[in-house]
Amino acid sequence: MSLTKASWLAQANGSTVTFLIFALSLLASSTTSLVMLSDSHEKSRAWKRIWFLSQTDENEEFCFYKHLSIDERNEFIADYYDFLDYKPGQDASPTERNSKTDVDLNEDDPRGLFDPANYSFGEKRRWIPWAKDATSGNKRGRYSAGYPKGLVVHWTAGHRNGLEAGNSLMRNTGMLYLLIDDEGKTAQSDSLEFYGYHAGKSNHTGAAGYVSDEYAGVEVQAAGMLSKDKNGFYPWWDKNQRNPRNRISNYEVTFSPQKENITAGYYHRFTDSQVWALRRLVAWLYLNNPEVFQLENVVGHDEISPGRKVDPGGSIVWQGYSLTMSEFRDLCRSDISEILKRHGK
Ligand SMILES: [Zn+2]
Repeated sequence: MSLTKASWLAQANGSTVTFLIFALSLLASSTTSLVMLSDSHEKSRAWKRIWFLSQTDENEEFCFYKHLSIDERNEFIADYYDFLDYKPGQDASPTERNSKTDVDLNEDDPRGLFDPANYSFGEKRRWIPWAKDATSGNKRGRYSAGYPKGLVVHWTAGHRNGLEAGNSLMRNTGMLYLLIDDEGKTAQSDSLEFYGYHAGKSNHTGAAGYVSDEYAGVEVQAAGMLSKDKNGFYPWWDKNQRNPRNRISNYEVTFSPQKENITAGYYHRFTDSQVWALRRLVAWLYLNNPEVFQLENVVGHDEISPGRKVDPGGSIVWQGYSLTMSEFRDLCRSDISEILKRHGK
């Protein structure tokens, strides 16, 4: 599959599906602006495009790439299969597709998670060096130790529409949290000295008062739990209407059975970039102030508000598998040991 043909596909989309053009032109522009995309990155995009090209509707009222004939679409799909070295009929279970990653795991340290240069050790800084300073939300007071004792993981239950849109939502709701967009970019709304609302009614052994007054919150942009019909998966805002425009690509969906904090169901999985950003955030928060921040206080909203909240549930996927929060904490512990080892401690 040549990039020229892929770009043409992005351009040729015309005015049929506005958000798709937007998404694809972003892909096309990042193809040219980033000097080199990793092989696995390109492959995950190819699977996504195949999904869009394969969509059809019973009544033909809606499909992507309407201006292309079925034959033309099939030709593109065949080219993408060639690129992926995939023979139609081979097993392409959702699990296999989901295991395609947008982070190149062949690199020793993708996203610099293990690089000690990205951390401050015991410096008690108030601003995360790589986070975008995006003043937003309402602070309610100062943490008792001047720093959060833990972190609550949430999803936004919304669109993956970038940090700016996420921050204006925070401004409107008056809540206060850290934010991670689909590419793993992170926004910090206030100094880590101050707390605001994000968790509502909740309890945790590490927090004497309201959890929001003791732990920071991080919202990861994702739709949350999904409903399913014969055509695919839909977010909560289109549970009944089932407009194909709102359908979520199989590639972005994961299923988890019930285990620990996870409620059984289909989830809009966090992107690989989001999971790496989350791990790096936890490592930084801990290493920056290990006397105050405790890894056992890295919790899911579903752990501190059980029965009322289901986030992050099965959304944290690592090596093709939904992690429970206790498995996620273990992963963070091993990340931190690796960083300390490389730091020479
Ligand atoms: Zn939540």
